[in-house]
Amino acid sequence: MTETTPTAATDQNLRTLHIVTWGCQMNAYDSLRMADLLRPLGYREVTTDDADLVIFNTCHIRERAADKLFSALGRLRAVKDARNGRMMIAVAGCVAQAEGAEILRRAPYVDLVVGSQAYHKLPELIAAVEAKHAAVIDTDFPAAQKFDFLPEAQSSQGAIANLAIQEGCDKFCTFCVVPYTRGAEASRPAAAIVAEARRLVAGGAREIALLGQNVNAWHGEGLDGKIWPLSRLLATLADLPDLARLRYTTSHPRDMSDDLIEAHRTNPKLMPFLHLPVQSGADAILAAMNRRHTADDFRRIVDKLRTARPDIAFSSDFIIGFPGETDADFAATMELVREIEFALAYSFTYSRRPGTPAADAPNQVPAPLAHARLMELQDVLRNQQHAFNRAQVGKQFDVLFTGPGRHPGQIAGRSPYLQPVVVEHANLAQGSIHPVTITSANPNSLMATLNQEQIAA
Ligand code: SAM
Ligand code: SF4
Repeated sequence: MTETTPTAATDQNLRTLHIVTWGCQMNAYDSLRMADLLRPLGYREVTTDDADLVIFNTCHIRERAADKLFSALGRLRAVKDARNGRMMIAVAGCVAQAEGAEILRRAPYVDLVVGSQAYHKLPELIAAVEAKHAAVIDTDFPAAQKFDFLPEAQSSQGAIANLAIQEGCDKFCTFCVVPYTRGAEASRPAAAIVAEARRLVAGGAREIALLGQNVNAWHGEGLDGKIWPLSRLLATLADLPDLARLRYTTSHPRDMSDDLIEAHRTNPKLMPFLHLPVQSGADAILAAMNRRHTADDFRRIVDKLRTARPDIAFSSDFIIGFPGETDADFAATMELVREIEFALAYSFTYSRRPGTPAADAPNQVPAPLAHARLMELQDVLRNQQHAFNRAQVGKQFDVLFTGPGRHPGQIAGRSPYLQPVVVEHANLAQGSIHPVTITSANPNSLMATLNQEQIAA
C-alpha cells in the first residue's frame, strides 16, 4: 500500500460516519476508538446508514457472521447507489480479518477491509482509498500494538465505561477463532491504562470494566517498570478517588491466580460478580476443547472465590454439542450448573469455525440433538437467573444510576451484580450512587425504592 496523508478537518470537509457494531464489549470499545480516531478528520457520528462513511465492525465467533455481513452490505449497496456512489463502505473487525479479499470479491462496492489489529491505520487507509479510487485491504498483524498508535480515548462513555487492557489469546481452545482473528496475547502497560482510566473518570465514569479476550492473563508493565499481575493493576485503579466500581471480563479459569482471588477479598471497589466461562462440565469435553482445566478445578476456583467474597455471584459461557459430547457429558454439564447456580449465563450450540481444530473432528453432534440439549440447559439457567433476582428482594445495596428508565418518572441504574435496577419517582443525577431496597424482581431486572434516610445522611 502506498503511503497517503490523511486530511485534517476543516469546515469544508465535515463528513458523517456511521459505525455498525456486532459482537462483544471489546468490539463496542474498538468502535469508540475508531470514532475517536476519525473525529479529527472531520467525521461526525450519525445513527442512520445514510452516511459518508459506514463501518461494519464485525464479530466472527459463531457461524453466520459472514452471511449477516453480506446481507447488510447488500442492503447498504442500494443506499450507496442512491448517493451515486458517494459513500465509503468499510468492513472492520474479525470477519474482515478472517475473510480479507473474499469480501471484495463478493461485494465489490466495499471500499476498505481493515483487520482487527490494523484499525489504528484507518485515517491513512481512507486517504489511500480516496487517492487511488480503488479498494484497499489491510489485514496485517503489526508487530507493535495498535493501542500504541491510537489517539487518547475521547468518547465519553457515561457513568459505566469499558477500558481494553489486553488483546488476543494464546490459549487456542479448539473451537475458537480468537487466536487467529485477534492474534497473540498482548497486555497494555499500566501507565497507559491508568491514564485512560483517569480520563474516563474525569468524563463521568464511576464504574470501569477492564476488557480483554483473556483479561485475567493480563501481565503488563507496571508503574515501577516491573511486570504486574492483574490484582496489582486493580489495586492501583482502586486508588482513583472518584472511581467507585471495578470489574474485569472475560476471564479464563486457568488464570484465576490466588492473588487475583485474594483481590476479591481485599479490593473494596471490585464488584462481587465475575464472568468465568466454563464451557462444559465434562472433563473429556474440556480436554478435547483444550481448556486445560477440569470441572473440579472450576469448582475449586468458585469455592475459593466464595470464601474470599461470600456475596460473589457468577456468570458463565457454555458450548453445547461440542464434537464427541455424549449424553453423559451433557449430564455432567447439567450437574455442574445445578451445583454452582449461576446468576447469569450465555449458552450456545457449538458452531463449526473453519480453520479451528474442532471443525474437522469426525464426531460432530447432530444439530437437532445439540439444540434439544441447549433448550434443556437454558431452561435451568433461566430459572437460576430468575431465582437469583428474586433472592435480591428485600436486600439493600448501592445502585449506580445511569439515566432515565423506560417509563416517565423512572430512573435506572446497575446493581453490584450488573442487574438493571429501576426506581420510580426519583430525580437522581447520572453517575450518582445511592443505597436502595429491592422491592420486586423480574427475570431481567429489579425494582427498588431509595433508602431516603441514607441519602440524607
Ligand atoms: N476467552 C474467553 C474464555 O476463555 O472463556 C471467551 C471468549 S470467546 C470470545 C466468548 C465465548 O464465545 C466463549 O466463551 C464461548 O462460549 C463462545 N464461543 C467461542 N467460539 C465458539 C464456537 N465455535 N461455537 C460456539 N460458541 C463459541
Ligand atoms: Fe478463545 Fe477464550 Fe479459548 Fe482464547 S481462551 S481461544 S479467547 S475461548
